Amino acid sequence: MPSAPRPAEPIAGVDVGGTKIQVVVTDRRFRVLAQSRGPTPATGGPEAVAAAIVPLITEATGQVADGRLAAIGIGAPGSVDRLRGVVSRSPNLAGWIDPFPLGPALEKATGAPVVVDNDVRIGTLGEHRLGAGRPYRDVLGVWFGTGVGGAVILGGELRRGRAGAAGEIGHVCVRIGGRRCGCGRRGCLEAYAGRASMERRARKLEARGRRTQLFAIMEKQGRRTLTSGVIARALDMGDQVAQAMIEEAVVAAGSAIASVVNVLDVEAVVIGGGLGTRLGSRFVRRIAAAMQPHLFVDGRDSVAVLPAELGDLAGALGAATEAAELVSSGAPSDSRSLSTEGNRAPRGAAARPRL
Ligand SMILES: [Zn+2]
Repeated sequence: MPSAPRPAEPIAGVDVGGTKIQVVVTDRRFRVLAQSRGPTPATGGPEAVAAAIVPLITEATGQVADGRLAAIGIGAPGSVDRLRGVVSRSPNLAGWIDPFPLGPALEKATGAPVVVDNDVRIGTLGEHRLGAGRPYRDVLGVWFGTGVGGAVILGGELRRGRAGAAGEIGHVCVRIGGRRCGCGRRGCLEAYAGRASMERRARKLEARGRRTQLFAIMEKQGRRTLTSGVIARALDMGDQVAQAMIEEAVVAAGSAIASVVNVLDVEAVVIGGGLGTRLGSRFVRRIAAAMQPHLFVDGRDSVAVLPAELGDLAGALGAATEAAELVSSGAPSDSRSLSTEGNRAPRGAAARPRL
């Protein structure tokens, strides 16, 4: 059982990515006091990931004050049951097939209260509170990484939806009967604009005889996959396969994002994620241009499309803002309960949609 949150103590935010784990320790104004970073274990499943997070939190916390934390926020990829702190499925983390109680496990290991949420929701929340989304009340976050994730903030509040899946723009269909997506369906945005799909596509094109430097760069950089850095380097070198894949991603993203904007009429779209951040404003400008033909409200009054400002720290800082909410309310914002055993809100009550 964790101790009660202590208002004066720092908070920690943890971003669990497909390749790395980023930790920040901040004060209550989200100024970064210390940080640490390590690789996400490629084997050993969720237990190994939890075991890797603990020393990184200890390392960062050890650099400030007496090393005590008021609360910890965690952003993890995949389906997250926020009330229970359970990450039920995480296709982009190796071996994470069964639900794992990440929140309770880390509460036990650290003694601090823990809140766990989906990484893209947390990253968008961070951008809304501290980054590019600050001037707006209605924001769509679109995160390009291993997959494509999204999150919706309306009236200043993160919307989770009935099943907690609000914002899953990666699975908006951009081509009927199109390319197979990691989710098993066809024609999803993620099948054209997610890094894992791009890698599958590049391997196929290479096998068919297309010349590309992508895999040579990958080996030279000692990577196991086509990371954002590998793709960015190939683009800089004028690699035609990389250019074609990014063009395809931009066209698909333009159509999907414009369609969601037509439904929600948000004020701003923030583009983030590993790939989005790495490719930066040139990628964002191209997406904004690709959206134009599909926008119902276009021209001067159309939606602002902005690159994420918090960069690599968006996820960890967003997680810190959720941890701060936990401290101020004593509970995750849409429940009255910590994610600990025996102290749960009834599942049905909190799972009802507020939209
Ligand atoms: Zn899909």
